[in-house]
Amino acid sequence: MEEQQEKEELRQLAQCLKDFLGLDRMYTNPYAILSFLADQTIKNIEANRHTSFKSAEIAKTVSNGNSEPSAWLSQYWKKIDRDLKPLHINGLSEFALKRGLKKYPWVTKIESPGGAGHQAQYLITGIEIDKSIVVKSDRFSDVPFDIEYVAVQDIKPSFIARFIFNANHSAIGWRKWLLVFYPMLEMVAFSLLGSVLILGFFMGNHAITSRDLVYLIFIYFTFLLCKHAYQRSHAFLNDRIIMASDHFMSFKENNIVQELVTVNNDQGDFLYKKVQLTKYVGICPICSAQVVLEKGEPDFSKRVVGRCKESPREHVYSFDRTMKKGNRLI
Ligand SMILES: [Zn+2]
Repeated sequence: MEEQQEKEELRQLAQCLKDFLGLDRMYTNPYAILSFLADQTIKNIEANRHTSFKSAEIAKTVSNGNSEPSAWLSQYWKKIDRDLKPLHINGLSEFALKRGLKKYPWVTKIESPGGAGHQAQYLITGIEIDKSIVVKSDRFSDVPFDIEYVAVQDIKPSFIARFIFNANHSAIGWRKWLLVFYPMLEMVAFSLLGSVLILGFFMGNHAITSRDLVYLIFIYFTFLLCKHAYQRSHAFLNDRIIMASDHFMSFKENNIVQELVTVNNDQGDFLYKKVQLTKYVGICPICSAQVVLEKGEPDFSKRVVGRCKESPREHVYSFDRTMKKGNRLI
């Protein structure tokens, strides 16, 4: 009876990990290893088979058996345990709590006692959730919603962002103020450029030439850039959330928001505010495709909305960053 209960707990943990990984669908080897373990654990519990796996079994499926299994797996194990675990601990803890689990799932490695033929074993285990790191969302549990969003932190910031942000893509202290005023700094830079151009335009006292036309075009584009920077600055200060600047994202990375987050202690007292880059994803309740955040324009001006990847114009959802929930907009 007890064994049955343990198996059911493990199945729920594996399902939780599988669904969490399915949210962002990353295909690099460390994620493929985690996905394989979650998937195979569920299958093996149903078939009453083993739930800890040797490197040979993992490597056979994930790497197509092209390399020496132990060496192949140990290079990715470091990444899974040292980098991915701290990166996902908050999101995964929150995700598990929402399902009523007391623990969050991760993979544990059990070293072999040694000797030829003994390989390390990898298995899914539950780790106690540290409730102080989880955003408390119980107070919104009665609010009706169509979609729930989960914060996934595995984003690839640009070189500039790596300089400005601290660990975990958040900025506090002078870095925070730099980010709050970043669009304003852009605006000042563009205004100066515009002034120099305007000055250059009026300096020459000759008939209008094609050079003057080029000047006018440059002045016009500088004005547009200035206006754009002003709008972003205004939106961030007012709305506390904007789509992150392309300057902060590496190539191919998008759908990231820049948000102002209030950090409270365990008792709910205010500690400080920080600027954070976050990627939120959800699953479309209509077609089960991934939903990512994008600008609301043109239909939902000044809003950040969730758009389904399969039907971005039709399956559109609101995004409430306090509740991490949304409702259908179209
Ligand atoms: Zn959809």
